[in-house]
Amino acid sequence: MSFLSSCNTVYVEVRLHRSDQRLQALRAAIEPKLNEYLQALKSFRWNRAFTPDTHIPTVESILLERENGENGTMQLPDQNKFKFVYHFYMTQRPEMRSDAGLFDGSGDGDADGNDCVIAANHVLLPATELSGLWENLIYEEGLKEKLLKFALSALSFSQHSVDTNVIACNRLLLLHGPPGTGKTSLCKALAQKLSIRTQSSFAYTHLVEINSHSLFSKWFSESGKLVARLFGKIGELVTDKNNLVCVLIDEVESLAYARSAMSSNEPRDAMRVVNAVLTQLDEIKACPNVLILATSNLAQSIDLAFLDRADIRQFIGLPTPAAIKSIYKSMLAELMVRGIVRTEELEGNQADAEGLLTNLSERSVGLSGRTLRKLPLLAHAQHTSRDLFDVNQKITLSDFLDAMLLALEQHLAEQR
Ligand code: ADP
Repeated sequence: MSFLSSCNTVYVEVRLHRSDQRLQALRAAIEPKLNEYLQALKSFRWNRAFTPDTHIPTVESILLERENGENGTMQLPDQNKFKFVYHFYMTQRPEMRSDAGLFDGSGDGDADGNDCVIAANHVLLPATELSGLWENLIYEEGLKEKLLKFALSALSFSQHSVDTNVIACNRLLLLHGPPGTGKTSLCKALAQKLSIRTQSSFAYTHLVEINSHSLFSKWFSESGKLVARLFGKIGELVTDKNNLVCVLIDEVESLAYARSAMSSNEPRDAMRVVNAVLTQLDEIKACPNVLILATSNLAQSIDLAFLDRADIRQFIGLPTPAAIKSIYKSMLAELMVRGIVRTEELEGNQADAEGLLTNLSERSVGLSGRTLRKLPLLAHAQHTSRDLFDVNQKITLSDFLDAMLLALEQHLAEQR
């Protein structure tokens, strides 16, 4: 591969069935078969996981992705042009989720009898439940890839011990923008992506999601010890250089807000807890195998010192009309696959459906991705009239789009 990034590079993420065999051994056996398969492929969609139609041992799905985040279908590609870069992975077992008692609050309390509260979630990646999340987050072309490249470059600098006094690199990403625009989901999806792409450097990737709100719960703020325990645990993960530790701090403004709002009559303990969290975050940030992902709904009001050093502050806005249409299409495709809406081709001759969809998308400008994703259920529940459990009664696409429009109008009326 050339030194500068090559636009012919195709990243091939290969999900394997869980197996006891070592990944490296599997890789050597599978790669030639995959190469042969990909060379013969007639068409495929970028960024869409699919199961190969010929059996390749242990391969569960393949996803082909271009560096620039290109979307759409690729017909009869001249594969000789491409350089395939393989990333093999297996998802972790669901039980690899958390340490009892500390991260998820499932313990009976600490030695002093304090109740543990939900302070953080801990997941080992790649996690099955995060599969497909990245592909289903729709932004302008290249935005997700830009973030991925930033994170990979920052981690590469720290792996090479680049002096941060010479080159600023803090492995800290801040996503800000209106609520419901997918910031938290994007952070999780990014961590998942990193776990797949950095396997040659890190044997394990951990996602620790700090719940900012619970840090200020009545119980938590009374116990600075829990902060110490939380970061003690994170510290243990960080000590092992085989671990990549992604720390997600959701709605980071609540830390800043809590600090500024704490007047002299606020409990001093609570103030101490916030300060302890910030100091600890600053400390772990210095470790080369830590990446901090922060989200905020109000970036202007954040004045936390550690955020000033964010490598990238990315605004995540409300979806554009084109993104809205893609989100709707993905939801309709899911309802068709699951047998609720009658399978009809959305693209092509279906001028009526296409027109309805365009109208629906235009009417939806200004809504967040979160709101859009709730509409199909509302439409189905409130505006379709059939025996919903009769499997033979599938809804036609145009009926369903009409129902979606009614649900949308109802939602908009309720907002006024
Ligand atoms: P935020 O952290 O910005 O409040 P979330 O990550 O909690 O948003 O997202 C809420 C839901 O909305 C998720 O289910 C997410 O998949 C969906 N969503 C939001 N924005 C988008 C988008 N641009 N594309 C696809 N789904 C989106």
